[in-house]
Amino acid sequence: MSEFALIEQFCLGIGREHPLTKLSVGDDAAIISVPNDKELAVSVDTMVEGVHFYAGTDAGQIAHKLCAVNLSDLASMGATPKWATLALTIPDYNHDWLMAFSKALDQTAKHYGVELIGGDTSRGSLTLSLNIMGLLPKGKALTRASAKVGDDVYVSNTVGDPALALRCIEGDVHIKGMNLEILREQLDRPTPQVELGKGLLNIASACIDVSDGLYGDLMHVANRSGVSIRLDVERLPVSSIYKQYMSLGGNYDLALAGGDDYQLAFSVKRDRRGEIQDLAESSNTKISKIGKVVEKGVVPVNLRFKGQPYQLNEANAYQHFGDQKVVS
Ligand code: ADP
Ligand code: MG
Repeated sequence: MSEFALIEQFCLGIGREHPLTKLSVGDDAAIISVPNDKELAVSVDTMVEGVHFYAGTDAGQIAHKLCAVNLSDLASMGATPKWATLALTIPDYNHDWLMAFSKALDQTAKHYGVELIGGDTSRGSLTLSLNIMGLLPKGKALTRASAKVGDDVYVSNTVGDPALALRCIEGDVHIKGMNLEILREQLDRPTPQVELGKGLLNIASACIDVSDGLYGDLMHVANRSGVSIRLDVERLPVSSIYKQYMSLGGNYDLALAGGDDYQLAFSVKRDRRGEIQDLAESSNTKISKIGKVVEKGVVPVNLRFKGQPYQLNEANAYQHFGDQKVVS
């Protein structure tokens, strides 16, 4: 099959069309129009077979996760997702794989209102790279850089399940049956917190999505904002399965540093906590207060457990390059 036929069959008409798209797939570049009162948020995330997913992973699952991890980056800025381009590198032509990938990509893109407007296709080791674009009200983006001393720190839903799932798959932890399936679902099908991110515009002072582990990601917020964060480990929201794992000798380390959560962690001025409660209700999202922004101290993130220092045992925060240890 020619490259053009492949693009036509699997990459055309994916996602939801927008009136702001002036030119989509088919020319040398796509053209989009950004309204005067808006800004464009742009992000890219790549998934490589053997690094981000196991060889043989279901194509539909890969497509969903590719969308979800990219949408999560836009969610943390408070942006409304609109467009994407896809760099698709495949080892050979596999009709069934492409069909399943394209179908799932279309489904997830449509669900979040994203239109696929272009890309590139080449042969090589299986690598998927999605470039995502979204709109923000001008000057209103949530960033990592503006957490203020005195703010409360929150996280959405629960953390730790995806990392726990990975440990089960790798045989380090043993959880069976239904519980393992629930965990795996959290790892394989993350839900990007797009609506929450939009709701946090005008409320949160800083925001990040938890992809590399809460501890490491909050360090980014602390460093970029020139503050420190006190994290009360006993307040971390974990699932009932995670609690079970802890009752059998597990600890909070995976919830703190395991990663792949795709939740939002954010800081909010204390006197706006009522708005956070309202947002939790209106968006039907569990939101937990997990700490405070404090004056810049010796460490960017100060881990406490019921007021005492908490020692993170494993260097769990995921880093692609180098073997930098993450310790408290
Ligand atoms: P060029 O050679 O000019 O770079 P291509 O042959 O790579 O163009 O692509 C032709 C058209 O198809 C372009 O509009 C491009 O954006 C689109 N396209 C190519 N690959 C993909 C893909 N995987 N997903 C979506 N659009 C794609
Ligand atoms: Mg090209």
